[in-house]
Amino acid sequence: MLNNFLGKKTKLTKNSTKNNIKLTSSPQKIKTDLTSSKFRILNEKLYTMSNEEAKEYFKDNKEDFEIYHKGFSMQCEKWPIIPNDLILKTLKLEKYKNKTIADVGCGEAKLAQNLVPFGYKIYSFDLVSLNKFVTQCDMKKLPLKNKEIDIAIFCLSLMNKNFIPFIYEANRVLKIKGKLLIAEISSRIINLKNFLEIFKQLNFKLFKQKNIENYFTILSFKKISDAKINKKLINKENTFDILKPCLYKKR
Ligand code: SAH
Repeated sequence: MLNNFLGKKTKLTKNSTKNNIKLTSSPQKIKTDLTSSKFRILNEKLYTMSNEEAKEYFKDNKEDFEIYHKGFSMQCEKWPIIPNDLILKTLKLEKYKNKTIADVGCGEAKLAQNLVPFGYKIYSFDLVSLNKFVTQCDMKKLPLKNKEIDIAIFCLSLMNKNFIPFIYEANRVLKIKGKLLIAEISSRIINLKNFLEIFKQLNFKLFKQKNIENYFTILSFKKISDAKINKKLINKENTFDILKPCLYKKR
């Protein structure tokens, strides 16, 4: 049994090899299966590496990053709903047009691709820049001034061993009363109360919570004040006791 990207159980068929590739498959199918298995390996890496390790790994492996995002797109097609699409729909509301937005861990920067042509001010950040919209950086250190942003979005991007430094950084770049939007895979959240407690400690107030199709959790917070550095939190060895990585179970 495997624990797939959404934390659901998947049974391997008799004809599957270890990486789920059938020997009788067509070349196209083999290519798709190889992308899927490489995606799963890279996905696991991203969830279990430190942000420094992830940065270092993809610095010399842009091709892997492209494969990762091909696999991620294929994964998205299997979902009943895509969280990034929901966020895009919300941002299209007139009231967001004059806001400064940061899409943190943006992947292909779909939000910017769809909104910049309509005059939106949106920064897109990721470890690798896949197109002209993306600024390459580690989201622990965003190239933004203090209190520059109205809305910070982390859509399925709280990866790496410890997500807490990313929330600190969001606090730094957000204006007071700025919005922090988190979309995560519900099955990753071990205990919602403990997860929410981290945001509370970093001076964010929860004002909306949504569960989408039992798959995704979308949380909206408001920044109340600047966060005081708590070294114990920032230097936590990992945050897997709060937000678990999406891993394949060893058979
Ligand atoms: N938000 C996009 C992409 C989600 S995939 C969407 O919903 O479509 C998660 C992304 O987070 C990946 O592109 C990954 O590279 C990025 N990410 C993970 N750790 C990061 C880090 N430390 N700094 C910057 N980006 C990171």
